[in-house]
Amino acid sequence: MSSVSRKYFGTNGIRGVPGKDLSLEFVSEISQSIATYLGNSKPVLVGHDVRNSSPALSKTVLSGVLSAGSDANAAGLAPTPAHQYAVRTLGYSGGIIVTASHNPPQYNGIKLVGPDGVEVQRESESEVESIYSDRRYNRADWQSVGKLGTETRVVENYIRGIMSQVNIPKISERKFTIVLDCGNGAQVVTAPYLCERLGCKVITVNGQADGNFPGRGPEPTPQVLRDLADAVRSYSADLGVAYDGDGDRSLFCDENGVIYWGDRTGSMLVDHLLTSKGGGLVATTVSTSSLVGVVAAKHGSRVIWTTVGSVDVSRAMINNNAALGLEENGGFFYGPHIPVRDGAMTTALVLEALAYKKVSFSKAIGELQTFYQKKSKFECPDEKKKQVMAILESESTEHGKIDRTDGLKIWVDDKSWILLRPSGTEPLIRVFAESDNEQMLESMYRKYESMVQDAIKSS
Ligand code: MG
Repeated sequence: MSSVSRKYFGTNGIRGVPGKDLSLEFVSEISQSIATYLGNSKPVLVGHDVRNSSPALSKTVLSGVLSAGSDANAAGLAPTPAHQYAVRTLGYSGGIIVTASHNPPQYNGIKLVGPDGVEVQRESESEVESIYSDRRYNRADWQSVGKLGTETRVVENYIRGIMSQVNIPKISERKFTIVLDCGNGAQVVTAPYLCERLGCKVITVNGQADGNFPGRGPEPTPQVLRDLADAVRSYSADLGVAYDGDGDRSLFCDENGVIYWGDRTGSMLVDHLLTSKGGGLVATTVSTSSLVGVVAAKHGSRVIWTTVGSVDVSRAMINNNAALGLEENGGFFYGPHIPVRDGAMTTALVLEALAYKKVSFSKAIGELQTFYQKKSKFECPDEKKKQVMAILESESTEHGKIDRTDGLKIWVDDKSWILLRPSGTEPLIRVFAESDNEQMLESMYRKYESMVQDAIKSS
């Protein structure tokens, strides 16, 4: 008998503030529920990020898994994609990763991955929630309690996995100088060592793991990466890269310190990978630049447009056998490695792309068609979102073709669109606009900006 369960999993796992809405009792029992869902044929991998509360929470997770009668191995600190790759390649029934990705320091969370290392489907999260709500989780007695082990191979396994996907002699030949802004996050234990082994001279910024994220905070956006851009220029580096707190996202800057959103770097990678390694579909979200479609079409490939969320991209890749995936916020997914976003894998691929193209970063990016973009957000209480979107929809219908994959994507002409989307995690309406014509972008954006503001006011 299953009751209607409360939702605990959000867009990207369970998130909250420890001691407030993420109590040890809850973490322990939800971990028991996850272990019950995963079954006990193989151990569960338990890893974490750099947050101050992560060691305590991961011990609670371990305790929950063992109490459900499953074996568990403690993997310690590593980037989320390193834990995911370990689950996939080292024989685990699944993994529980204690992380709140790019959220502020007080937050933490739980990410559940299946045996393939990819976040489980939404239905599986509901199954875990119902096991928890109905208290149907396994309770082991003293004889059947799980065995606790340690997993020490995560970092080396990850670095080797990435190195097996790229042309190392070709990259090493270029003797790149690269600045890595780890943002005090989990890539501090992996990315610098990977780049050294790819023959790069490595300079780090915010290179100490620190759960207070004192450098520039755990979320990389072009606005907070001035130190990275300055370091790239003063060391005459070939490129720079900034990771988010748990190391799955990466934003790049060129040799002049110009920082690019993920869809522009991602399109450069799609071009490189479709040229050097051949076909395959590309999955991305509806908020990504049309540029990726232009690049894919050049190679006779095609794009699958998904709802916004990294899990949605991963699942679209798996369901459609797509080799490549990307997000505008700096997520790049390389299927032959693992179809999840991965900051260090992306770094290796960017180095390889520059080595193959034999040009500077700015030149490689400059070869792509120019699209102008604008992104913004407007405060809107959660309870108003539905009404606001209804007003916007009724006012938008005469303006162009509407795509309803996620929010409202209004195509004003075949190269100009505006996306109005209620945030899934915050009280915000997000607006993305793009056009190949700068004036068109400005006028389109101004019109919709006031439409959104009026709709929020009148709701
Ligand atoms: Mg992240």
